Amino acid sequence: MFIWCRDHRLHHRYSDTDGDPHNSKRGFFFCHMGWLMHKKHPYVIELGRRIDMSDLQADWMVMFQKKYYYILYLVLAILFPVSVPVYFFGETWWNSLLVSYFARYVCQLHGTWSVNSLAHLYGTRPYDEHLQPVESWFVSMLSLGEGWHNYHHAFPWDYKAAELTMHFNLSASIIRFFERLGLAFDLKSASHEMVTNRIKRTGDGSHYNLGNEESCAAVTAWGPLHPLNPTYNSTLKPPSAMLKPEGLPLFHEKDVLNLDLKKNFM
Ligand SMILES: [Zn+2]
Ligand SMILES: [Zn+2]
Repeated sequence: MFIWCRDHRLHHRYSDTDGDPHNSKRGFFFCHMGWLMHKKHPYVIELGRRIDMSDLQADWMVMFQKKYYYILYLVLAILFPVSVPVYFFGETWWNSLLVSYFARYVCQLHGTWSVNSLAHLYGTRPYDEHLQPVESWFVSMLSLGEGWHNYHHAFPWDYKAAELTMHFNLSASIIRFFERLGLAFDLKSASHEMVTNRIKRTGDGSHYNLGNEESCAAVTAWGPLHPLNPTYNSTLKPPSAMLKPEGLPLFHEKDVLNLDLKKNFM
């Protein structure tokens, strides 16, 4: 949780540059799962150290989970899901391990990873065409609501991670449910006016309501259309930049001016 948050803060701050742990400009395989098998880019290591994590360090629950990660993983991710089919449905241990642990984990990981890969590469950019992340209903379906990624990067502090909450957005509903229980509070959300202004100022014209016909027509449908918003589909556009050996420019150049990174290359 703690490590995921640090990587995710880095991902938002230096999105799709060499400071991003899963930089989508390095290709589909890298941002999907390759980054987990790869040595970290020196920018990721150095800039990661500078990310402020004091809020989470002050949270006992996050630190408890960090401290007891392996034991919690063993109980909650392996023992518990594997024993339920054995004790309640008469399954064998072997079948249960293969399905409830391995198969489930593989599906879950690919769904989660598709947010970093598919939702950064193939889709439309109705909120900000200057951001690499895209809107993808397909990814939202796989990841229970995390595929409205152009919106999420345009308004990263919005708890819904999407403009609309009723379209494949189970995560937003779960957060609202926890708000009712008092376990989630101070939910922030972008106002309708703020979103509308952003769409008009920086959108690519493919918004389902405020887009223009020309831009919507230019979108090539790939796979079935979104059942409710026909312009929310996927295009097969290749990533717009190629990686140079010396790396891509960072958005926050001032942060890296003082870094002595030369010794880390080759
Ligand atoms: Zn992203
Ligand atoms: Zn995010």
